[in-house]
Amino acid sequence: MSDIVVRNLVKAYTPGGPRATDDVSLEVAEGEFLVLVGPSGCGKTTLLRMVAGLERPDSGTVSLGGRDVTRLPARERRLSMVFQSYAIFPHMRVRQNIGFGLAMRKVPGDEIDRRVRRAAELLHLEEYLDRYPAQLSGGQRQRVAVARAIVVDAGVLLMDEPLSNLDALLRLEFRAELKKIVRQIGTTTLYVTHDQAEAMSLGDRVAVMRGGRIVQLGAPLDVYDRPSERFVGGFLGAPPMNFIPATVERNGDKPVLALGDQHLAAPSTLDEWVGRPVLVGVRAENIEVSTEAAPGWVTATVEVVEPTGAAVLLTVRLGEHQIKVQTAPGFRVAPDDTVWLRSTPEALRLYDPETSLVLR
Ligand code: ATP
Repeated sequence: MSDIVVRNLVKAYTPGGPRATDDVSLEVAEGEFLVLVGPSGCGKTTLLRMVAGLERPDSGTVSLGGRDVTRLPARERRLSMVFQSYAIFPHMRVRQNIGFGLAMRKVPGDEIDRRVRRAAELLHLEEYLDRYPAQLSGGQRQRVAVARAIVVDAGVLLMDEPLSNLDALLRLEFRAELKKIVRQIGTTTLYVTHDQAEAMSLGDRVAVMRGGRIVQLGAPLDVYDRPSERFVGGFLGAPPMNFIPATVERNGDKPVLALGDQHLAAPSTLDEWVGRPVLVGVRAENIEVSTEAAPGWVTATVEVVEPTGAAVLLTVRLGEHQIKVQTAPGFRVAPDDTVWLRSTPEALRLYDPETSLVLR
């Protein structure tokens, strides 16, 4: 059963103006962690706020746990939320902050104690229960906000950029912890971020948004590996997917990709595209690189060498195009060196240069 069902949500902040969400439909299964990801202004927060009941859609419906809540105010939707500005109460100790939602729901005191202790345990806050927020670090405050949201056990958890106030290292640490905690409690979660790495790491599925629409939805690695359009390949992954203009030609009975005067083996499905331009999408780690010439490989010139520790990232010039190539940590080259590249046809994704959509 789907716990969150969104149907055809349309929202324009000014009547007849641009649509912040444009006919968005989405289902989040029970216990699933679904991440909405996309660049600033694509409508993620608006969508989340409509699910929360904080924003009213122009049209469309929201159901939670099988109940149509479209016309219900936020407080009657039985969900909990964590926002970027974590809004914990400065005059309350951590214990009261975490238990606040339970106290509001008139849960008996001993049960509040028990549940607060359990949430504090999950978030490693046991020793801070008697402190005030001002006596905590940013990361600890953020944990309090998450503890306060999960302690009510609402069944549906909404999070909007909950890690964005943390510095890079804390963010990475807390990201892994959040993943573990949400898995442990099994709450259905809808999570908003503009950070593609966070989306890939946390989501059971990710919904990539652009211009008020969901352009692709799927398991993170599937979306990463098979972007449905150029935008998705460029947005997910660091470095972004390479896109290289090419022409499909025929070599004997096989289609090949012509990159300037060089040729790459092409997937055989390209037959009907012979004579036409395409965009070749290929991930940096799917390009093999060699310092020695080999038949069937294309030559390129090294421009930048960036060792990252776990790999070496090369920026190379292939004809008039710059592309990124990821190699093993021990790979030794210098700027201006000539290298030879190849990729298996299976690793190439092909896009229509006019529509930017993947070719079927
Ligand atoms: P960000 O990552 O920057 O928060 P977002 O993807 O969450 O972006 P939204 O905040 O949902 O995007 O905004 C979607 C569009 O709606 C944007 O063009 C934004 O300017 C507009 N918008 C959002 N809130 C309002 C508002 N209260 N009044 C008018 N326009 C708004």
